[in-house]
Amino acid sequence: MYDITGYHEAATLADVFTITGEKPTARLVAGGTDVMVKAREMKSGYVGCDLIGITRIPELHDIYLEDDGTLVIGAMNTFSEIEHHPLIKAHLHLLGEAVALVGGPQTRNVGTIGGNVCNGATSADSAPTLFAYNAVLEVHSSAGIKNVPIADFYKGAGWVDLSPGEILVKIKISRQDYEGYTGHYTKFAQRQALDIANLSCSTLVKQTDGIIEDLRICFGVAAPTPIRMYTAEAFARGLTITDENLKAIGAKCLEDTNTRDSWRASKEYRDYLVSILPGRNIVEALKVSATKKEEQG
Ligand SMILES: Cc1cc2nc3c(=O)[nH]c(=O)nc-3n(C[C@H](O)[C@H](O)[C@H](O)COP(=O)(O)OP(=O)(O)OC[C@H]3O[C@@H](n4cnc5c(N)ncnc54)[C@H](O)[C@@H]3O)c2cc1C
Repeated sequence: MYDITGYHEAATLADVFTITGEKPTARLVAGGTDVMVKAREMKSGYVGCDLIGITRIPELHDIYLEDDGTLVIGAMNTFSEIEHHPLIKAHLHLLGEAVALVGGPQTRNVGTIGGNVCNGATSADSAPTLFAYNAVLEVHSSAGIKNVPIADFYKGAGWVDLSPGEILVKIKISRQDYEGYTGHYTKFAQRQALDIANLSCSTLVKQTDGIIEDLRICFGVAAPTPIRMYTAEAFARGLTITDENLKAIGAKCLEDTNTRDSWRASKEYRDYLVSILPGRNIVEALKVSATKKEEQG
């Protein structure tokens, strides 16, 4: 059952502000892959509400490089568009690989990166990688524009820093946060495809001759929000990549995570994954570096 009382199509950002001014409880809908499920289940906030469609707003569809190298992704880009975009392949290979693991092709063709982030789920497949790239979210409202680092955007389970009348327009990643990094994303789930992660881990590494200059590790489903492993990251800087050091980095991650039991996996099992996935990801990231080096001759 649905109890949607009206649908409004916004053609511009100004339309969004006008409509939300008139109907403060109206919900934005992008691809609708989360919204329509919640509306059908009559979840709180989706009963007797209006929807505002944002798919036709032009600036939400951009993907481009700014003069200073910042890569900008409009919130309405679908997972498929991001996966196949040449700028993403060239500069943010890890994001392209992570979003390719979302659901099935139908979901990836309509589900958007903006919806994934604004939904606030700790299991969102784009989120750990956006945390690892230190993404900044550009949020617009009739009051102006605010730029929010993604780590501050997530407030709790299903709760993000968005008020009625605010819309996520752009996701921005600066050159210093992607240049020289390679990475790997592991979505650990019961099945290879069409499943929600038991635990997910995104890892970016910048290294020279096997010595770690910088490491970024972010887990999904290891806490109510995606969570960066700042203790392990600081510990890893300057270390040589050896089996022993990879194990030590994994052990450090247990200091920052807050896993729990659920029907998908026990806390004990999740903690085991926390301790091993970063090391495995670093090994895979090194393979990406080696391939890139070969390609560059
Ligand atoms: C069958 C199926 C499989 C799925 N599998 C996965 C999976 O494997 N991995 C995964 O991460 N997710 C999965 N999902 C969840 C979902 O597809 C994603 O979260 C998707 O990214 C949501 O994007 P959307 O455009 O459909 O968002 P919508 O459903 O339109 O919106 C989601 C939320 O974000 C808000 N919103 C959307 N855009 C904006 C914006 N620009 N500014 C402000 N608020 C906004 C909406 O108001 C709503 O609260 C799955 C869903 C289904 C139905």
